[in-house]
Amino acid sequence: MNNKELSLDITFLFPNTMSTYGDSGNILALKKRCEWRGVEAFIHYCDIYDSIYPSDIYFWGGGQDIAQEIVSNNFSQQKIDFLNNEVEKSKVFLLICGSYQLMGKYYIDSNGNKIEGLGILDVYTKSSPKRMIGNVVIETNKKLKLGNKKIIGFENHSGQTFLGKGVEPFGYVKIGFGNNGFDKTEGVIYKNVIACYLHGPLLPKNPHLTDYIILKALENKYDSNVTLQKLDDSLELKAFNTLLNRLKIQS
Ligand code: GLN
Repeated sequence: MNNKELSLDITFLFPNTMSTYGDSGNILALKKRCEWRGVEAFIHYCDIYDSIYPSDIYFWGGGQDIAQEIVSNNFSQQKIDFLNNEVEKSKVFLLICGSYQLMGKYYIDSNGNKIEGLGILDVYTKSSPKRMIGNVVIETNKKLKLGNKKIIGFENHSGQTFLGKGVEPFGYVKIGFGNNGFDKTEGVIYKNVIACYLHGPLLPKNPHLTDYIILKALENKYDSNVTLQKLDDSLELKAFNTLLNRLKIQS
């Protein structure tokens, strides 16, 4: 199938209420890498009082505890059911930090306050006195079939997340704290949901992950024979390897 006949709808959830950590660059990376192949990408911005635009990819970034509480308190059951159905229909989700916590069962903040999650992912999170900040390098879960390529990112959270039986880790930390600083896991995967603690320009830094997300969304919308035209990623690769070298990790 020619890439030029394809299009994707991408919804950016809570772009104003939960967007304190520079995660919006991920939307730009998705859009550009679609467009460079002639795949049309339509971006929809849906905040608290908007209905959620049905899409092929949902992106939802991180935010402070207070923003998480506001979003949690304003989530209708209808919206929770809608997102749950989308997850079960194998729509693609990328969730970062605060939204990862909110898609889980609950988050206990630093005041001991319980913020209800949507209960879609089998995880729970508790704030800890130690803030987990810094560069992260992970090896991805083999199930994703991302090859040996690592993922690099930057974490900044106090929440420690623990995984239930219904989900698997997105990856395993080589450097960084990951989900909780204990068990070496980072993030979760469930169906086509990827949730992780990797803030900022996660997708610009990891073009292989961006393409994985685009491909999964196209396969889910059209068929599993879609292939993506190769792009020249030499600059991205140089930046990727420079960071790995600095962290003394082999690519
Ligand atoms: N409540 C969060 C925490 O663990 C969210 C922070 C974030 O999204 N970076 O600190």
